[in-house]
Amino acid sequence: MVGCPMNTVSRPAHHLLSLNESEMAELVAAFGWPAYRTGQILGWLYQRRARTIAEMTDLSQADRATLSARTRIGRIPDCVVFRSADSTRKLVLTLEDGLEVEAVLIPDNDRLTLCVSTQVGCTLDCGFCLTGTMGLKRNLKPHEIIEQVLTAQDHLEAGERLSNMVFMGMGEPLANLNAMSEAIRRLTNNTWGPGWSPRRITVSTAGLASRLKDVAPLGVNLAVSLNATTDEQRARLMPAVHGMASLKTLLLACRRYPLAPHRRLTFEYVLLAGVNDLADDAKRLVQLIRGIRCKVNLIPFNPFPGSVFRRPPDRDVLAFQAIVREAGIDAFIRKSRGRDVLGACGQLGNQSPPFIRSNLDTN
Ligand code: SAH
Repeated sequence: MVGCPMNTVSRPAHHLLSLNESEMAELVAAFGWPAYRTGQILGWLYQRRARTIAEMTDLSQADRATLSARTRIGRIPDCVVFRSADSTRKLVLTLEDGLEVEAVLIPDNDRLTLCVSTQVGCTLDCGFCLTGTMGLKRNLKPHEIIEQVLTAQDHLEAGERLSNMVFMGMGEPLANLNAMSEAIRRLTNNTWGPGWSPRRITVSTAGLASRLKDVAPLGVNLAVSLNATTDEQRARLMPAVHGMASLKTLLLACRRYPLAPHRRLTFEYVLLAGVNDLADDAKRLVQLIRGIRCKVNLIPFNPFPGSVFRRPPDRDVLAFQAIVREAGIDAFIRKSRGRDVLGACGQLGNQSPPFIRSNLDTN
């Protein structure tokens, strides 16, 4: 029977998590089901984190059987958790094609932040970042970004609740803009989605100046990894992203960014001993960002095997911070978390030396 619902949906089944809302509505319509079933199924996927269609108990047995015959949910079964001595947890998920992606759970006082990845590897080649040395394996799809959140929630301990999400894991979020945006739209959906407040989400970019404006409609916070205060320095440290936009172009895009009232931009700045951590660097940084509603996060370099850079001593970090603060700009020093499991900033990548495997959390 041409055109009957079964024929329409007998194409190779997509995983339910790979469908956006309108694709899900099409699937529901193709089955000849009432439209409200779209929200029901999406609610099972994103609010209740169902792993099987059998769990969807407000669908009749027959409907669940129909759905199971045509499609699967598509949750990733394979996740290994590495626990750091400071209780940071790195989750390594194996994707359908065997590639691995990493997300990091970072508890800190009253916060529990999840750091998510947007690419396997990275488009960029920043020399101080382990992920940058891997090259790009591929972009993540929206559901593969969301899977990191669902899996992290599945691994929370009693009494834990995610409070913040940062797109600061592997990859350059703005190089995978569409998938990242779709993931954020689903995560912030409060009809059938988990209803994340965009204020609790931060997207970090190495500086794809022309795409900053595309972050604004998502309502999330924007962080820009400056890391250098002259074009020469930036070209050396971050050649690919420097090739896309000079510091001048990047800062102009930052000044033009339509910040919502009471919000501010974040500038991240990796401190590399003897390279970009001198008083003159701090003074130039102040000049570059003066007048922008912003704060600065200073990130002392986290080493990884084979890296040529060094972490500055604390006194140099504090001196740098003092210069920025004296100029009236808030500057914070990012605590380094999860370094013993290569879970800290810039340490994510396909490196799991034996000493890390021994930290495997088997609970
Ligand atoms: N590609 C995006 C997001 C991932 S990196 C970006 O560049 O913003 C998240 C942050 O970690 C960035 O600010 C980056 O500059 C910083 N970082 C990268 N490698 C680091 C390292 N080895 N030590 C400390 N911070 C690092």
